[in-house]
Amino acid sequence: MGQDSVVARLGRWLALDHTPTSVLFSGPPMVGKTTLALIYTRALMCMNRPKGALLECCGECFPCKALLAGPFSDFTFVLPRTKQITVQIVSEEYDDFSVALRHPVHSRKRVIMIDNAHTLNEQTGNMMLKLFEEAPDATVFILVTDHPYDVLPTIRSRCEEIRLCEEPALFLSEKLIESGTDPDCAKRASRFAQGKWVLARILADDKKLLEGVESLTSAFFEILGDYGDKAGFVSVFVEVSNTLSEHLEKREKEVIAWTLPDAKALGLKKKKELERWEVSQTRLNEIARSAQKTTLDWLREALVHEGCNTPVSEASAFARSNILEITALIDRAETWLMQNVNEDYLFYALASSLGRMR
Ligand SMILES: [Zn+2]
Repeated sequence: MGQDSVVARLGRWLALDHTPTSVLFSGPPMVGKTTLALIYTRALMCMNRPKGALLECCGECFPCKALLAGPFSDFTFVLPRTKQITVQIVSEEYDDFSVALRHPVHSRKRVIMIDNAHTLNEQTGNMMLKLFEEAPDATVFILVTDHPYDVLPTIRSRCEEIRLCEEPALFLSEKLIESGTDPDCAKRASRFAQGKWVLARILADDKKLLEGVESLTSAFFEILGDYGDKAGFVSVFVEVSNTLSEHLEKREKEVIAWTLPDAKALGLKKKKELERWEVSQTRLNEIARSAQKTTLDWLREALVHEGCNTPVSEASAFARSNILEITALIDRAETWLMQNVNEDYLFYALASSLGRMR
């Protein structure tokens, strides 16, 4: 479903004051699910929502202001830091979600939002189902996930699903321009955004990274033409994926910092746990892998883009005839990456194999 129709659907629920008890926001990573879920939350909680507005809120009332600073009494935000959300975690850190049964104090609705909802295990899922039944109308559960098929079927079937997908580059470009990015930068950033709003935003905000991605694709075609500098290609590749990884890490840390006021209210123990999670090496490795995967996707996309358009150079004309073999090489590199092979070796091997494609 396109972002416009999704927004219209959410807006219709609000306008009719017929909002579902439980909503699941699903879709690929970096398309802006959590952002949209938060915008919807704010519209749900706002005390003076402008009439006829889609997802707007007044921006002045208590919940509107409080939400900017993070979770508060009427808004619970769960950011799982373990492989599973267990009953023990919900009991120790969220008091069994007992707030779900109470009417909101400052807001029109009480919202309990769970990110990475696919990590709810069966026991916690059963507990949630009971809450869906017992909670008053003023309580809304919002679940967010990249893996809708891993969400417990019992939970998923009880939720209205809002499915987001990648957006056309033109749409992302217009959205960037609307938010103040200059048209040239918006066009270039959205070309490499892979349909993902979060990626478009990162590229538009960091011109150096955007230029890096552009030089990476040039270096890629030079290698394919067998006149490129392989070491140079690898160093641009590593620099681009490291910079992207830093951005993704920063975004994640911002979310954690945003949840901290709540942690302070709940005591030092949770705050300490959050801080420990923040520096978890496993999570940092996951982020780095995802940045490397996105960088490989840039190569693949550049190839397809060139292959489908008028060839601009001898290299790309040549690349067109080998497009399947080259994408297969990139696919293989991605598989190896997931198997934790030595990255430096892998990228040199990729550059050498690409150079031999002539
Ligand atoms: Zn408001």
